Amino acid sequence: MNTTKQTVSEESIKTVIDQVFSEVRNATEKYPTWPTDPLRALAVLGEEYGELNKAILQLTYEPSKTSHAEVRMEAIQTAAMALRLAMSLDRYQYAPCRQHSQQKLDLTVIRAREKDDFPEYYENG
Ligand SMILES: [Mg+2]
Repeated sequence: MNTTKQTVSEESIKTVIDQVFSEVRNATEKYPTWPTDPLRALAVLGEEYGELNKAILQLTYEPSKTSHAEVRMEAIQTAAMALRLAMSLDRYQYAPCRQHSQQKLDLTVIRAREKDDFPEYYENG
């Protein structure tokens, strides 16, 4: 195990912060509105996090498909969206959305599918 202490230079931290602020500035120019529904705001952050997740997985297992620069860009975009989410903490309206019932899962249909033996009523709706 590597126990060597590594320090991050103040300059590199400043560079990251500058890039995140620049990304927030560009994003708010391009998309000046932000969801008032906190779950939709979280979905925006989640979309960026998903892209960061993909970039890191690809750099790990399929390095020809991405680059360190791509990972860095996605990390900056994720941080920027986290900042936008935080910038609106006093504006969110926490309200449950409309819900609907779902059909009860019919295991006989699933078991019939496994046997490739669909009941007549299922195939005809
Ligand atoms: Mg992205």
